[in-house]
Amino acid sequence: MTDSLVETFVSDDVLHRFMLEKAGVRGVLVRLGHSWQEIASRVEYPEGLRSTLGQAVAASALLTGNIKFEGTLSLEFKSQGAVRLLFAETTDQGRVRGLARFDPDALSHIVDLGTLDEAMLAITVGHAEKGRYQGVVTLDGTSSISEALEGYFDRSEQLPARILLAADGDHAVGLMLQPVPGEGGHSAADADDDAWARVGHLTETLGAREMLATRPEELLYRLYHEEQVRLYDPRPLAFGCTCSRERVEGMLRALGRDEVHATLDDRNGEIEVICEFCATRYTFDRVDAEQVLAGPDTPPAPSTLQ
Ligand SMILES: [Zn+2]
Repeated sequence: MTDSLVETFVSDDVLHRFMLEKAGVRGVLVRLGHSWQEIASRVEYPEGLRSTLGQAVAASALLTGNIKFEGTLSLEFKSQGAVRLLFAETTDQGRVRGLARFDPDALSHIVDLGTLDEAMLAITVGHAEKGRYQGVVTLDGTSSISEALEGYFDRSEQLPARILLAADGDHAVGLMLQPVPGEGGHSAADADDDAWARVGHLTETLGAREMLATRPEELLYRLYHEEQVRLYDPRPLAFGCTCSRERVEGMLRALGRDEVHATLDDRNGEIEVICEFCATRYTFDRVDAEQVLAGPDTPPAPSTLQ
């Protein structure tokens, strides 16, 4: 491999944390290439929905940038409208996955999440066994995930945030900025407001096309070179699924003996479970199923998809 190939590979699925030292603003930039293509190619999504899903996946990775957590961070959108489910997840190891379920006949070209019936968006952080935190994101009057998340940061007692998201068939990119209170030499509140506004203006110049076409280091330099960008070591991101045979077994046990037997009778003695995220197939014949049913009485596998 030549140097340039290595560089392209490294910067294509990556999370960059950075600091704008003059302004006292911290940021996260996420760029997904192969990992996003893996997710996007699983189902033939209409273009508008594919873009929305890519934005959600980039957002889930963005939100892991400035927090310490164990397990997974997920964004889950549900509605009774054309988009039934939109799920995006990033693990503490930088593994991303996502999917959407939709009604192709009802879906319009532009996906406006806030207008769908009974729309709800939740952020869940944590570990199934060790405890989870869930925050509900208000969607009233918002049309995009970035707008909804900005509103979430404004309403919660956390710092405000500026969030930009873009996705096409090849890349999903996210940029998040937050002021750092009491740092960067700005003790007066006015100075902080000025710096935050100044960075906001610089950020507004960025369009989706430029965001998708530009490598992270170059993008940050182009936007913020006058703000003294300090770039921390990048973290690699990759597609990855947390499904396992044990989890599927737990799901079968949770279904119960009658349901499992009925399914075996229906399907010529074989139960097949295909993971929607990664297409891994898990099969169980009658002997396997009896072993599973006789197995340890573990709590039902936490399913994010119910
Ligand atoms: Zn899987």
